[in-house]
Amino acid sequence: MNIPSLLIAFSLFFVAATSVNANPGRDAVVTSRYYHSLISAPSPRLAELELFTTLLPKGADLHHHYDGSLYAENYLDWVEQQNGCIYRENNAVLKAEKFRIEMKPQDLPEAARRICLDAVTARSDSVFHQQLLQRWSVKDYGNHVHRQLPPDQHFFNTFQYFIPLLDFSSPAGLQILKQRALAENVQYLESVFAMAPVVENPLLAAKINALDPAASDAQTDEELSAYAAFIANDPQAQAAIRRYVQMANQAAAGIDDDRFKLRFHAFVFRGDQPARVFAGMAAAFAAAQASSRIVGVNIVGAENSPMAMRDYVLHMKMFRFLKRQYPKVKLSLHAGELALGMVPPEGLRHHVRDALLIAGADRIGHGADIAHETAAPDTLRLMRERGIPVEINLSSNAFILGLQGDAHPLPLYRQQRVPFVITSDDTGVSRNSLSREYLLFASRYRPSYAQLKNAVYATIRHSFLTDEEKQAEMAKLARRFAAFERQIADMVQAGGKMGRIAR
Ligand SMILES: [Zn+2]
Repeated sequence: MNIPSLLIAFSLFFVAATSVNANPGRDAVVTSRYYHSLISAPSPRLAELELFTTLLPKGADLHHHYDGSLYAENYLDWVEQQNGCIYRENNAVLKAEKFRIEMKPQDLPEAARRICLDAVTARSDSVFHQQLLQRWSVKDYGNHVHRQLPPDQHFFNTFQYFIPLLDFSSPAGLQILKQRALAENVQYLESVFAMAPVVENPLLAAKINALDPAASDAQTDEELSAYAAFIANDPQAQAAIRRYVQMANQAAAGIDDDRFKLRFHAFVFRGDQPARVFAGMAAAFAAAQASSRIVGVNIVGAENSPMAMRDYVLHMKMFRFLKRQYPKVKLSLHAGELALGMVPPEGLRHHVRDALLIAGADRIGHGADIAHETAAPDTLRLMRERGIPVEINLSSNAFILGLQGDAHPLPLYRQQRVPFVITSDDTGVSRNSLSREYLLFASRYRPSYAQLKNAVYATIRHSFLTDEEKQAEMAKLARRFAAFERQIADMVQAGGKMGRIAR
């Protein structure tokens, strides 16, 4: 560079550096320094960090369950709108279970109707209302002594209460989730949305259900093959898949716009009988193949349940079988959502690796047991080399697994340069937000601002959007970051030098 061009470059830099408005370079530096001051104090400045992570562009939330992301209050509103009721006590004779929703009180016998509260009454009875929120979420679980189930059971039990409302609530619920996403600067949701339809064939099902866990791959594939052929040719099964796709399209109709995008995962429940899991999985793959709205297949439910533990490898073989038939369908699999003590140590040895190597997962959900897995160093290497990310859910791992702080494997994944994304899991049940997950990430693990930004960009990079869509979302994210850094820089400037007043 010669002297004149050096002078021009210098004066351009000077103009840029001194301009109060539109100075992205300055904004980024101020934002980075301010953020650093928040996390580097002996105890992180949480309130300021809370605002910072709330305003922070967060790209996508890639591990997000539709039903668990809505708050109990949303469900209660819908009980009211639909004139449903909620049982206020257990009664075996009347088949009443406290806190369960009944959508057609008019069809109940008089005695049952008397113990089923409408939503207005449920809300106005403060004791019952508190108990209801506690049962339908993790509210108050740890802050006072009361009779309660173990945390993992309590967490997974909540979902059963919402089932009666799911058909009714989808479009309204998705709108709530969209507004919530926009409010916390999230531009894309990949939501684990609805269970794939299960069409049964008792004869073929019996063969899959009778499969020995040690059966050869050839024998397993043979039984799966017969069931897959049935699903592919049965008019009822095909109609169920079409209805499922239509339902997903209708629920999300008109929701995408310039600021927000929504895609779904079809899912199966790992606590079901093997043949039911496979029937649902085959339908889920077919639906994902048929619809651009459904971008992936997932498997959910308590991984430590006896059935899920027994059939884990079989489930992975089912994924492998279907992935061969539908190579373009993407898989994000909950794998290794386990901690020592939930199951015997042998149960912690191979789930992440099997999801990766047998099922061919494109993303790993949780991966919390990795430090216990036999071939962990090699599995971590494979994830790094293949660019397979782990979806990190700090709040739900803390509650369900008791894993938090330094005990959580996130630092291990980061040390091994495995890609990761910060995700929310079930904000309604956990009564938190994606912003709070970023607050935990920043305050506990103290990533630099550049690392924090990288983690956000990773959410778009590892989404199941098409390459073209990803490019568009990346550009939007860059614009959001420019606006965010401007906002933070202005705020810091208004508050005085690095906001150090009164500290
Ligand atoms: Zn999950």
